[in-house]
Amino acid sequence: MPELRKDPISRRWVIIATERAARPTDFPHEEVAPNDVERCPFCEGREGETPPEIFAFRAAGTARNTPGWRVRVVPNKYPALRIEGGTERTHVGIFARMDGVGAHEVIVETTEHHTHLGLLPTDHVADVIRAYLQRYRDLKNDPRFAYALLFRNHGRTAGASLSHPHSQLIALPVVPNRAAHELEAAERYFGRQGRCIYCAMLEQEMTSRQRVVWENEHFIALAPYAARFPFETWILPKVHEADFGAVAAELEVPLARALGETLSRLHTCLKNPPYNFMIHTIPYREEARHVYHWHLEIIPRLTQVAGFEWGSGFYINTVVPEDAARFLREVTRGVEAIRAR
Ligand code: ZN
Ligand code: ZN
Repeated sequence: MPELRKDPISRRWVIIATERAARPTDFPHEEVAPNDVERCPFCEGREGETPPEIFAFRAAGTARNTPGWRVRVVPNKYPALRIEGGTERTHVGIFARMDGVGAHEVIVETTEHHTHLGLLPTDHVADVIRAYLQRYRDLKNDPRFAYALLFRNHGRTAGASLSHPHSQLIALPVVPNRAAHELEAAERYFGRQGRCIYCAMLEQEMTSRQRVVWENEHFIALAPYAARFPFETWILPKVHEADFGAVAAELEVPLARALGETLSRLHTCLKNPPYNFMIHTIPYREEARHVYHWHLEIIPRLTQVAGFEWGSGFYINTVVPEDAARFLREVTRGVEAIRAR
């Protein structure tokens, strides 16, 4: 019998197809292979091929826009939004418009073309997170920006046009719907129950343990109860915090460990799948910090979203979240062991 599950936050229904229990090897996907190294603008030594550097961790004595960096942030050469402009809205009848103002930055995670964020050492992933935090906090100082979304596309299926390891940040003059809806849901729950809905969910997940993938003292990775996609995985701070920008210095390494561990498990279990991840955090000017809880959502791109999903807002997930969590927990035994079972 298929099962309908409702996500308590988005209120989105998901069909969990339990009849034909899919396994990690049931999802043929693109081979994510670095293949554009000959003309990659993110490789060390080609600093002149990107717009001028905004920020970098680099060796002492090395100059901006030259080799010697470890993590480097540059403006996107083909930005979705432009930094110049205002935020006034105008209306034509029922239609609203405003200038396409915003920031679009690229965080180049390493000089090494042929690697993957989940395979880098923890101290390096921690520098990537420090670069995220530096840019996230800096862009908050621009009063035109209402929200900043940090995200990562891995593989062409997931929208990555360059294979060199990188993430992106887009600062927006409006709060995107996804963030607004999550915040509204959290406010509704807080109004009824007097607590954060994510904290309530974490308490239940840490008791049941059925969907826990990995955890350390400060962070937990889990398969959400009503996961939309096979092997969808979320990472959340265990202690309530609404704002990604407020991650304390002593939590940078634990977060890097949680992210690296989760990505490397997905990498091994699903054989380097294309994926997206995005950080959901409270809007820049939002005061209700007690109701919202920042988190990172990882979506492996193993299936296609088609007519039913577009038309209904329902998703069909062919991997039971409890099974996905178990596969990812046990992956240290290796893909071969999972196949043999
Ligand atoms: Zn490269
Ligand atoms: Zn919370």
